Amino acid sequence: MKHAEAHNGARHAIAVVGGGIAGTACALQLAAAGHRVTLLVGAPQPDTPAEDEIRYYALSPASVALLSALGLDVESQGACRYTDMQVWGSLPRDGLHFSLADAPQSLPALGHIVGHGSLLKALRDRAGSALECLPTFAQGVHFHDAGVQIDCADGDLVTADLVVSAEGASAVLREAAGIDMHGWDYDQQGIVANVRCAEGMRRTAWQRFLATGPLALLPLDAHRASIVWSADAPEAQRLLALDDAGFASELTRAMQGVLGDIAVESSRAAFPLRAGQAARYFGDRLALIGDSAHVVHPLAGQGLNLGLGDVAALHAALDQHPTQLVRALKAYSRRRRAAVEDMIAVTDGLYRLFGPAGQGFAELRDAGMALVNRSAVARQWLVARALGLDARPSTNASSVG
Ligand SMILES: Cc1cc2nc3c(=O)[nH]c(=O)nc-3n(C[C@H](O)[C@H](O)[C@H](O)COP(=O)(O)OP(=O)(O)OC[C@H]3O[C@@H](n4cnc5c(N)ncnc54)[C@H](O)[C@@H]3O)c2cc1C
Repeated sequence: MKHAEAHNGARHAIAVVGGGIAGTACALQLAAAGHRVTLLVGAPQPDTPAEDEIRYYALSPASVALLSALGLDVESQGACRYTDMQVWGSLPRDGLHFSLADAPQSLPALGHIVGHGSLLKALRDRAGSALECLPTFAQGVHFHDAGVQIDCADGDLVTADLVVSAEGASAVLREAAGIDMHGWDYDQQGIVANVRCAEGMRRTAWQRFLATGPLALLPLDAHRASIVWSADAPEAQRLLALDDAGFASELTRAMQGVLGDIAVESSRAAFPLRAGQAARYFGDRLALIGDSAHVVHPLAGQGLNLGLGDVAALHAALDQHPTQLVRALKAYSRRRRAAVEDMIAVTDGLYRLFGPAGQGFAELRDAGMALVNRSAVARQWLVARALGLDARPSTNASSVG
């Protein structure tokens, strides 16, 4: 039996279950705050990380700052910063363009595109030297008045004051605690791949809303991009069945040539898309973080950003109520559920506005986008929301740019 006991002045004894990006960052953050942390890693990182190399995340400045406070410089992991975003529906000229000038405070970037494999490896390497990491899965949990006991797949037992479930969407501990997940399937798949664009990426994140779903090209360097092409299930199957040349020419056409000819440089993978969140993010001696607590459509690139926001909020709540665990967990859950509910509403609203249901008023929608694009105040407000920053426009903004 392993005891994640708090001793030598440590605060809580915490077991974090799930060694994905959210769980490993959480374990590091809580250990740095003086808690005694054990991380149940789950699956090891594959030796030949084919899928790891085509999964990229657009991370917000807040997420990058959190990782940096944990000692991780994403740019030295090969992350590419972007300073602009171009979003459109029917025609690029009627779309929205955001730049650093629209950010409510001085920032070096609107965000960074970070590779899953390199970020996870860097986090796990740090965790390996900073805290106890067990290469096993949790398969059961027992909550007692005095603590929590976790049954591991290797037959070991881990005890702690608090367990954090960072197990991803199919969380065993969330189900064991009887916490429902409320949500819906989009009946869409998100296709990811790496591509090369003849025209430069210009440090811009590009997104076009097609009637069948949004298509994003995120810059990896001057000419390479990571795509996330969300499409209704039949369209996704059709796109996946194309050979590389056929897929590349559909992609070039879908982007209306704004990035020139596009060539495919990797295999493709597809992920089913859902949205929803847990009825509460806490139980007796249990906190849910990351995809264990919520999933959102990737069109705003916010899933992992929300997970890292959970890490910061859980750490803050435990700091704020150092001796009242229940109070800390309730405060954490309240704060994060509200933030995630907002994000689900925004992403779902965009999905519906630009999806098949919105096609009947596409002209009106495009005119609205063009109007917003001419308003510095509106652009600042949208950028602040996207970055998770204070959404009040600065007082010296002119209303028409
Ligand atoms: C197509 C697509 C594009 C996306 N793009 C973005 C983006 O640009 N920006 C963004 O912020 N987000 C994005 N997301 C969302 C993002 O991928 C997820 O929110 C994020 O990966 C969730 O991380 P996690 O650590 O919470 O969960 P996971 O990555 O699912 O990790 C869970 C970990 O827990 C382990 N585990 C599971 N069960 C157990 C157990 N019982 N015991 C021990 N270990 C266990 C697993 O092995 C795994 O390592 C995208 C999602 C999709 C589908």
